[in-house]
Amino acid sequence: MVLCAESWDQLISEKKYYKRKFHLNKKTMQVLKQKTHISNVLVIGSGGAGLRAAIEAKLAGVEVAVIGKRKKEDAHTVLAAGGINASFGNVDNADSWKQHFADTMIEGYNLSEPRMVELMAKEAPDLVQEIDDWGADFAKLENGKLDQRYFGAHTYRRTCYSGDYTGRSILNTLIKKAKELEIPIYDSQYVTELLVHDKVCFGAMSFNINNGERTVFIADSTVLAAGGHTRIWRKSSSRRNENSGDAFYLGLKAGCTIKDAELVQFHPTGMVVPEEIAGTLVTEAVRGEGGHLINGKGERYMGKYDKERLELSSRDRVAMANYLEISEGRATKNGGVYLDISHKSKDFIIDKLPRMYRQFLDTLMLDISKEPMEVSPTAHYSMGGIVVDPDTHNTGIEGLYAAGECTSGLHGANRLGGNSLAEILIFGKRAGHHAAERSISLDYQIRSRDVVRKAHANIDAYIKHGDHVARPLQRELRNIMWEYCGVVRTADKLEEGLRKIENLKESVKHLDVRPDSEGYEDLMLAFDLEASIMSAEATVLGAQERKESRGSHQRSDYPSLQKNQEVNYCINLLENGSLKISSQPLKNFSEDLRTVITNTKDIQDFSGMLLE
Ligand SMILES: Cc1cc2nc3c(=O)[nH]c(=O)nc-3n(C[C@H](O)[C@H](O)[C@H](O)COP(=O)(O)OP(=O)(O)OC[C@H]3O[C@@H](n4cnc5c(N)ncnc54)[C@H](O)[C@@H]3O)c2cc1C
Repeated sequence: MVLCAESWDQLISEKKYYKRKFHLNKKTMQVLKQKTHISNVLVIGSGGAGLRAAIEAKLAGVEVAVIGKRKKEDAHTVLAAGGINASFGNVDNADSWKQHFADTMIEGYNLSEPRMVELMAKEAPDLVQEIDDWGADFAKLENGKLDQRYFGAHTYRRTCYSGDYTGRSILNTLIKKAKELEIPIYDSQYVTELLVHDKVCFGAMSFNINNGERTVFIADSTVLAAGGHTRIWRKSSSRRNENSGDAFYLGLKAGCTIKDAELVQFHPTGMVVPEEIAGTLVTEAVRGEGGHLINGKGERYMGKYDKERLELSSRDRVAMANYLEISEGRATKNGGVYLDISHKSKDFIIDKLPRMYRQFLDTLMLDISKEPMEVSPTAHYSMGGIVVDPDTHNTGIEGLYAAGECTSGLHGANRLGGNSLAEILIFGKRAGHHAAERSISLDYQIRSRDVVRKAHANIDAYIKHGDHVARPLQRELRNIMWEYCGVVRTADKLEEGLRKIENLKESVKHLDVRPDSEGYEDLMLAFDLEASIMSAEATVLGAQERKESRGSHQRSDYPSLQKNQEVNYCINLLENGSLKISSQPLKNFSEDLRTVITNTKDIQDFSGMLLE
């Protein structure tokens, strides 16, 4: 049934149906209120990409609402430490947007979408300057210009920063700006589904994590900015209840294409214990400042993997070395390797690595000036994600845009440090602008009562008694991904991993979900799990298909780059619920830019360049 705006009251009156249902199921469904919220633009995600999109849409003159499952001040973006890239050339004046383009393409092992990289490299200076003008308070040089420092694999110093809390300072600035513009931001809203009729998106279904109240968010345009999927690995630099692959799931179900899901950056050093925060980053600066990597047998091993650069080798190589030392039986007692900086003085460590000194003291009562840290690789960044048009960030589903870590294209097979903060500002802005433009251009909007009814029914179906609880299954999935689709992959392991994921899907059918006085966390975890399973399957399918080693994707059965694998792997969800994979050729770009890439020299010395 298709409704136009005038008959929308009919849909709202459907509340009665749910009230009736509530009475029937009173024992299991405690509260079931329903609201409808209407805005021109709906933004899902209150991280950097979502907020920048919302601000742009509002500045274009339309009404905007932002919703997020976490508290706005605590979106994943706050974790970003090292900085944000823009080729100002304030410190190294030979820098240019073309060199930034070339460095990004090289680090992405040719798989990036060139137009997206070009836009990012060209627009970064304006957007970085703008966020500083809005109050981000980046470090300055004596002449008042923004300071710039090295970040691994950049030809020049082009990373702007606020101490080691750049992400927090950007997020706080965006929140402040959104407040000035009176943009409402609703926390604790969990989106279960995008509302799509006839390939047109008209909003999203959401429930409040605290009281279960459902809201049908109706909008002319929706921007999805719900982050990545790195929390589906046992060791992850993401925290609980974030980056569980929600955007992949929501996007696939809405008809979007996911590209390069297998391309996930593993950071070489995450904490191993305590278990609750395993995977939390140990900054690369520890190696940059002279830290040694030592295995459980007491051997300093990096010479085996990179004779020249040792611990200063590139992020993907060190991650692989650490992984192999652990998986080949030379691990420490807690299943990691040692990262030791205790040969440096306490004053030096407190001066250069204050956050790390504090982190280990606070969480483990370990003084890193006296004892080594235990570390292991940790899933850190999703290069793959929803396919978007580089200029508009439209997803191919009318009215649906996406921005930030949940999209694909910019980073290829490996992300250049500092580019994702640039990405969230530049493409958040672009997505917000085009979302607003679409809204302004519409005379009326089609909405489907049936789609909303199905979205309600989908949530209802989860609330029931069952044999399984979501969290242990989530843990099982994370173990499967770590063991069978981790830093180093093989055909046999991937096949076994896929089989195990299939088995998990069976258990999910029998989940126990009972909202209680503590809130609707069970329901959130059930959806998180569903999203993680779909993201995991997409990742393994991509990893099976990519029969080579490229950037972050390492296969011991195909240890080198393969020319015939210079493609992007795309995943779609079929009507029967299965995922289909296909390949897409790479896009072309100008000879002029190719020449800059050819002329870019290899970086030999990474000292002073390792940040995050
Ligand atoms: C430790 C660490 C350090 C980093 N350092 C840097 C750095 O120095 N430089 C750099 O460029 N990058 C860095 N990054 C990467 C960078 O922080 C992220 O890529 C970026 O912040 C992602 O922003 P985002 O807006 O796309 O998504 P996020 O900040 O992840 O926001 C996602 C939003 O979506 C919401 N959401 C998710 N699912 C749902 C749902 N189902 N319903 C409703 N809402 C939902 C969340 O609540 C959140 O508001 C770092 C990452 C980590 C982990």
